[in-house]
Amino acid sequence: MSSTNATELERTLLRSGDDIYRLALLLCGDEAGAAQALIKAIRRLATSGAAPDQPALIAALLQALPPERRRWRLRRPPAWARSRAVPAGRAALLAALAALPRAQRFALGLTMLRSFESAEDAALLGDENRGGPGAAGESGLANGSERAGADQTRAVVRDALLALAPIAIPTISPAALDSAGAPEDCRLTRAAIALNDPAIHNDATIRGHLALCSACRAAEHAWQSLSIAVEEALRGALRDTRLPPALVDQLQAAIQPAPAAAGWALLSSPRARIALVALPYRLFGVAARRGAASTHWQRPSPGAGPRAARSCPARA
Ligand SMILES: [Zn+2]
Repeated sequence: MSSTNATELERTLLRSGDDIYRLALLLCGDEAGAAQALIKAIRRLATSGAAPDQPALIAALLQALPPERRRWRLRRPPAWARSRAVPAGRAALLAALAALPRAQRFALGLTMLRSFESAEDAALLGDENRGGPGAAGESGLANGSERAGADQTRAVVRDALLALAPIAIPTISPAALDSAGAPEDCRLTRAAIALNDPAIHNDATIRGHLALCSACRAAEHAWQSLSIAVEEALRGALRDTRLPPALVDQLQAAIQPAPAAAGWALLSSPRARIALVALPYRLFGVAARRGAASTHWQRPSPGAGPRAARSCPARA
């Protein structure tokens, strides 16, 4: 990797490192797994020649994940989901969230931890669903049917919310969330509500129906409450999570270009011996620079109040 790209990748880490670490925790479960996947992702990105931006880093993270194991879902929830700071009422919801299939955790994380564009989510989600390598930009979803990809992301989020509904809001009416079982006149509107489709706001037919149908307005309210409950739980559980300083050092080391292969035979060269004498001074310089760089990482947390994933515009 060129030094320009290495600098760019460091900047990406500086800007998005905490967010990406939260996503890695959500995907991997435990801290050791998240750290391992992130280091692997950074190494891969540093040598791939891909643009060192946030989507590329997330795509590299997805490629670095170990195969999803079903067994761990039976074990106790990961540490981030059972923090002492988690209110008692939320512990069950977070445990259920942590046990969702990885694609659903990923879609929730991208939608609720960060404000990603849906098409970008979709491209990344395409990678996750394939479970194999493939940069985000190479995804068919990213190139061709962005609309279908965005719908796919929404469908994954919808399914995750449906799975969490009985735990997130026990009093929620299953009928309000069941678009297929709605009366025929309501079905199109209910399907759009369940997907949080922009058509709820843009489509004249759906808007007209919502203005007249109190059952569909109640369904919209139920989906909004559900979405907000899950988003608050997820953001609340990960809000104070930061990249651990030791991991920051490991990631910064992984970004740096690998030193030229120095065979032991080189030691016989006088020039190499002179270089070796200078090495401790160089290392000291690197350590000093790294010490200076790592202070930049201790930035204050971005004020992150819960963001309503579903807007609720006033209707006439
Ligand atoms: Zn209706």
